[in-house]
Amino acid sequence: MIVCIFTIDYELYGNGDGNLYQQVYEPAERLQQIFLSRNARFVTFVEVAELEIIEAHGTDSAIDKVKKQLRDLYKNGFEIGLHVHPQWYNARYDQGHWQLDEFEYNLCALPKDRIEHIINRAINYLRKVLNQPDYIPLCFRNSNWLFQPSQDLAGLLVDQGIKVDSSVYKGGFQHKHHLDYRRALKNGYFWKFARDVNIPDPSAQLLEIPTYSRMVYTWQLLSQKRMRIQQQASAGYPLKAKLDRLTDFLHVRQPLKLDFCRLTIKELVHMFDRVLKDEKKAPESFKPIVAIGHTKDLQDYATIEAFLAYLQKHEIALSTFGHIYDRCGLS
Ligand SMILES: [Zn+2]
Repeated sequence: MIVCIFTIDYELYGNGDGNLYQQVYEPAERLQQIFLSRNARFVTFVEVAELEIIEAHGTDSAIDKVKKQLRDLYKNGFEIGLHVHPQWYNARYDQGHWQLDEFEYNLCALPKDRIEHIINRAINYLRKVLNQPDYIPLCFRNSNWLFQPSQDLAGLLVDQGIKVDSSVYKGGFQHKHHLDYRRALKNGYFWKFARDVNIPDPSAQLLEIPTYSRMVYTWQLLSQKRMRIQQQASAGYPLKAKLDRLTDFLHVRQPLKLDFCRLTIKELVHMFDRVLKDEKKAPESFKPIVAIGHTKDLQDYATIEAFLAYLQKHEIALSTFGHIYDRCGLS
């Protein structure tokens, strides 16, 4: 059985440029309306670090609207997950631009007590925003898909009651951040892990349900739509960061994520047709397929509508991690 889980990273990703109303609030509102009209729900991965810091510095008047929207999403049954870009916590605001703390870019690589402090702070802020003092997010996605080294962060998430991670994309490789998910290509649609997110460990507590990806030739990543959104997103990045990404592109094959903002309808359908083929071969296995998007990338709503119509035609249910967690063989 296949279910599709739409996840949206709710944030101004990148160097902090942009405004909350246009790049977070408005797109999330349109997506919410699309899903409500179909009586479906998605998962909102709220990047809490930037919201807390933007609120503390008073740099964006839309912060109150954003917080109200998150309460509405929660009230309307959308799943609220935790997403953290720790480089925001020591950020400075200087002449209209944010200077983020690149030394804290990878949460997993920080000292264990610092990770613990950040996770506690992030959950506390989310509780305040939602007006839910006991709220425990079920799911987590780390910044920039980083979940290596895995052990400390995995243990701390479990301590907080978090049950699902969705940071991995199989086949992922980022030289600069020592991210290597190529070994996870052998894994199934989900697995539990503790020491290394790549290695299934049935005795562990944290469940990985990766963002769905397929290995493709590098040239297949260069679609006009994807490149246009990528260029908009990385405008203002230092040359060094762009060159680092280029190094990763020297591999012959790359993972293409099931991204409902960046892919064309033809690409989305092509990727999903592969899942339908797998289903024919092994209908007994449970297949939660995680699609990803970012509020900052949401522009092409017609493609999202067309993809939802395709899923409906194939009787693929839309779900959330909370709804399918028990089906993944855990109590
Ligand atoms: Zn993010």
